[in-house]
Amino acid sequence: MTIAVFLEHHEGELQKGSLGVLGKAVSLGDDIAGVVLGSGVKELAAQGGRYGAKKVYVADLPELEAPLPQPRVDALAQLVEEQGIDTVLFAASVLASDLAAGLAARLDAGLNWDLVDVAVQDGSLVGKRPALEDSVYVDVGWTTETRLALFRPGTFDPSESGGEAEVEEFTPAFEDFSTQAAMLEQAHEESEGPSIEDADVIVAGGRGLGGPENFSLVEELAKALGGAVAATRAVVDAGWYPYATQVGQTGRTVSPKLYVACGISGAIQHKVGMQGSGTVIAINKDPNAPIFEFSDLGVVGDVHEIVPKLTELVQQRKVS
Ligand SMILES: Cc1cc2nc3c(=O)[nH]c(=O)nc-3n(C[C@H](O)[C@H](O)[C@H](O)COP(=O)(O)OP(=O)(O)OC[C@H]3O[C@@H](n4cnc5c(N)ncnc54)[C@H](O)[C@@H]3O)c2cc1C
Repeated sequence: MTIAVFLEHHEGELQKGSLGVLGKAVSLGDDIAGVVLGSGVKELAAQGGRYGAKKVYVADLPELEAPLPQPRVDALAQLVEEQGIDTVLFAASVLASDLAAGLAARLDAGLNWDLVDVAVQDGSLVGKRPALEDSVYVDVGWTTETRLALFRPGTFDPSESGGEAEVEEFTPAFEDFSTQAAMLEQAHEESEGPSIEDADVIVAGGRGLGGPENFSLVEELAKALGGAVAATRAVVDAGWYPYATQVGQTGRTVSPKLYVACGISGAIQHKVGMQGSGTVIAINKDPNAPIFEFSDLGVVGDVHEIVPKLTELVQQRKVS
């Protein structure tokens, strides 16, 4: 099995999700390569070696500067064909999902997505993914010679092995149609603190907060704990908080060490986005709320009373 992992980067850093997938790939075999595509990205290849890649293929060209999928489809398709790569793994993101879909069409290759694990069983690659609204896990395989897989964000933590990678540059030929799209503008949401995917601590607010003005309660607790703020879909749909913070089936998947759920009922669609969290603390005034079924610590009470006291206690502990 010859496996390549697409190493996505942003602002000069390889993304945590890609490095996690690289770590998983390294646990499957020895012949693992990373692929870095971009402009001015040669330096990033060394980072791939530190996370276990034996080899990192780099295409460093102006056509690959903007994070657009089509030129990357050309580059990866060429690499797969020239290097005899049979498996390409991606950490899901907007770019990686577009790229994997384009590559599947170009190579007529099978693409399994939303995977949460992968293993070699009797010489074949077998993926694991949730099904039926995440109530069961199913094993999935590939019937094509080239196998593509997208993993859920945050599925694997990167592990630094300290190795060095052999760096091999390549120059893909681009199709005429691949370089026709231009990135005119990129918008970045301004936010303080860590993103919810990277945060070790998340304080999440639900409809139990009663209104958008009360999100300051979770923001203050998150600030005291050095964490990020997340929200439920009910809250996001009501326009109380930005969509980018939604955790769940149709939002982000997170796996912090600590997840504090404030006024959240614990619907299955929310649970699937945060069930990989280390410790879950729930504050809810309804003792029968489903969230208590998968919390490590449950507090039955009013968020408006409990959350400010908790914030105060955390602040006091930090001072003393
Ligand atoms: C296809 C589909 C996809 C979905 N995707 C997602 C998703 O990605 N993410 C997601 O979150 N949801 C998703 N949902 C919606 C999900 O089913 C729930 O409706 C939603 O998670 C509920 O949000 P909530 O817990 O904030 O609100 P509610 O269910 O209204 O719960 C509010 C909770 O707050 C408690 N409460 C009220 N007042 C207080 C108080 N003063 N103090 C303490 N507790 C209080 C209540 O007891 C209650 O348990 C999806 C639904 C569908 C059908």
